[in-house]
Amino acid sequence: MTLLSVEDLRVRYGTDEGALHSVNGVSFSIDDRVNYALSGESASGKSTTAKAILGLLPDHATIESGEIEFAGRDLRALTPSERQDLLWEEVAFIPQTAIDALDPVMTVGAQIRQAIQTHREVSERNARRRVRELFETVGLDTDRVDDYPHQFSGGMRQRVVIAMALALDPKLIIADEPTTGLDVIVQDKIIDNILQIQEETDSSLLLITHDLSVIAETCDEMSVLYGGTVLEQGRVDHLLLNPTNPYTMGLKNAFPDLNSDGDDLVSVPGEPPNLESTPTGCAFEPRCPFSTETCATERPELESLPYRSQRVACHEADRAARMRREADRAAT
Ligand code: ATP
Ligand code: MG
Repeated sequence: MTLLSVEDLRVRYGTDEGALHSVNGVSFSIDDRVNYALSGESASGKSTTAKAILGLLPDHATIESGEIEFAGRDLRALTPSERQDLLWEEVAFIPQTAIDALDPVMTVGAQIRQAIQTHREVSERNARRRVRELFETVGLDTDRVDDYPHQFSGGMRQRVVIAMALALDPKLIIADEPTTGLDVIVQDKIIDNILQIQEETDSSLLLITHDLSVIAETCDEMSVLYGGTVLEQGRVDHLLLNPTNPYTMGLKNAFPDLNSDGDDLVSVPGEPPNLESTPTGCAFEPRCPFSTETCATERPELESLPYRSQRVACHEADRAARMRREADRAAT
């Protein structure tokens, strides 16, 4: 069953310098109990997409088009109070800056209890018990429920926010870069946490990260964004084994192999796209080693690859894939 579907989402920000076309026709859907990743470099539109889904865009943002459905409901049509209920009870959000999600003058335990008691008829005693359970789930010491946010390290605060997000058994958890800026050991623990939670609950996950190794460990399906457009989407195993859009190939090379020591880290050459106008052709065309005249003038549609649950938006997908396979063969 489809839990969340996003269809042709377009979001523009009005800025002093003019409009920024940050999301330019993004479509994807997430089924029940699926871990879904949104990936792509900085400024590709990942957080904007998440905020559009959640109704948390700032006032200077405009949703120009798009259908957003969650469990069969039109999220764009919700009233503010309906949205307020949805946000805690059904869709939990772990924002990119987790610290911002916590109130500095309230103990973390009190904050989580408040979230629970606002939405559920639960006694003080049971709410306290639930907070301790949640602390155990995310691997935090239950003696620390009465501590304040500043008394926790960055990694622990991130876990507090995860605990808060889980408090009401949401159907979907949207986590925006939950491990960025944390040291590798803490990152691993958070990832283990997320996987454990996925096993124990019936929830789906929308994980936003530019880290392909995290995606390989945690997610079932993914979309690769560039300049606010989806360049490739499908099952993570297919997509990472058989990247077919040149941008995905570049991204893959830009991240260390899971089994390597990370020495071969290179980034995709070139500058991020200019979002001041919507691209007429493929957003990645100026940086793409395979680009042709068509690529500059016609926007490629997402098309399914035969025999695979993989969709690619690239005029030169066949040529790029052939060359990658040859390079792979030469390397082994
Ligand atoms: P990152 O990996 O750095 O978090 P992202 O993929 O989440 O990047 P977004 O935050 O969605 O990217 O930003 C997409 C584009 O929209 C960027 O060019 C960014 O500068 C612009 N943008 C994002 N938020 C705002 C805002 N509040 N006002 C104006 N422009 C914004
Ligand atoms: Mg972001």
